[in-house]
Amino acid sequence: MSSNNKPTHYLLQSVNTGQQFSDTGWTLDAPGEKVDTLIRAVYEEVQLDVKDASLGVFRFADWLPVTRFLKGSSAPATYKSKGLAEYLGLENLYITFSGYWPEKGVTMRTCSFKETEAYTVGGRITEDTQGTLVVASAGNTARAFARVCSDNNIPLLLCVPEDNLDALWFDEPINDNVKLICTRSGSDYFDAIHLSNKISCMPGFFPEGGARNIARRDGMGTTVLSAVHFIGKIPDYYFQAVGSGTGAVAAWEAIDRLIVDGRFGRNQMKLMVSQNAPFLAIYDAWKANSRQMLPLDDDVARHQVEEITAKVLSNRKPAYPIIGGLFDCLKNTDGDVLKATNAEADEAARLFEELEGNDIHPAAAVATATLIKEAKEGRIPKDAIVMLNITGGGEKLFKKENKYHYLQPNHVFDISTSMDEIKKVMKALFPAINPVGCK
Ligand SMILES: *Cc1c(COP(=O)(O)O)cnc(C)c1O
Repeated sequence: MSSNNKPTHYLLQSVNTGQQFSDTGWTLDAPGEKVDTLIRAVYEEVQLDVKDASLGVFRFADWLPVTRFLKGSSAPATYKSKGLAEYLGLENLYITFSGYWPEKGVTMRTCSFKETEAYTVGGRITEDTQGTLVVASAGNTARAFARVCSDNNIPLLLCVPEDNLDALWFDEPINDNVKLICTRSGSDYFDAIHLSNKISCMPGFFPEGGARNIARRDGMGTTVLSAVHFIGKIPDYYFQAVGSGTGAVAAWEAIDRLIVDGRFGRNQMKLMVSQNAPFLAIYDAWKANSRQMLPLDDDVARHQVEEITAKVLSNRKPAYPIIGGLFDCLKNTDGDVLKATNAEADEAARLFEELEGNDIHPAAAVATATLIKEAKEGRIPKDAIVMLNITGGGEKLFKKENKYHYLQPNHVFDISTSMDEIKKVMKALFPAINPVGCK
């Protein structure tokens, strides 16, 4: 593990009150705050000094809350589009690509921007931290954390629905410091989250924290840092498909820092975020001008999730209502929420591969489809600077070039499993822990 790098200096700040305080190591919430608010990192370095590309995502360490640099990362790559730009009649379309595309200088082995956050969350953990990190995920996040924690010897417990095990493919074996537990077939992401909550309250475990973790957001924000570093200016428009909304909040926060940096312009970047119809939780709340999510019947939601191709976008409790969350980002940037059907996304993925030369993840195809619609319908000035965040891609290419196999679960839990039984299994998997004192 390489730790010959100095930790980044920063304070934390409540978005709600502006109050600043220091990080006790894994602070996820503002102390004593009654409303639900995100906290942000306020970095000592006001101007971003981008370091050598060989550091991967840690080249942006000035604005990452890390105590050390982990090995093996790749930063997102940004380039100016020719094929798709010409097709859409856009003069300044920039593509930021997270995934596998060696020709463009990006080699994320787990093929999505979840890898950026896995490296920075891992880098926030100090080398002498005790305990096992707990992460619940429906797919891409689990794959990224498994790879990064395995390669850097960080103890990790993953909770994944059994039906999503096909997302856990790896080119090289995952070490024993990574354990995988599942919720039985028929369960979904929320059951996995529920199980992970029960375990992370046991001594010896700590929760990753999701959107509340500054390391997760600032890791994803490197997509925007990559774009602005390449373009030299803050874009006018930003297109990204959203599930939890964390990536888009991260983009907004990165822009806020870049405005203060002062070298890249002072314009707000319009967030144009997108969802895969018919699952439209964020879309519906935004169109109703509501900070709260609208009520959604369980069966209806499950049916919608079954229908969509981009399953990673099916989050029902996104970081949207929370202070500093997606609702605020959209209001502040005069942004919008767009939608695309499976068929539109399929067509966009086909076009991207034909015009740009690589395969993209269904979620990235949703974002691309909405850009195509907005541009074709003349809603984007042709000289506007547009950033298309391709949040995942190159999986087909990676799998063609590499052999891969699937990670097998250490244990599968029935939904009805009692807390005592969960403790017993945890004790067997982690002999060093003593799972008492947990409700
Ligand atoms: C997770 C994911 C998204 C959505 O990101 P959020 O931060 O959850 O909104 C989009 N694209 C891909 C490829 C993803 O894995």
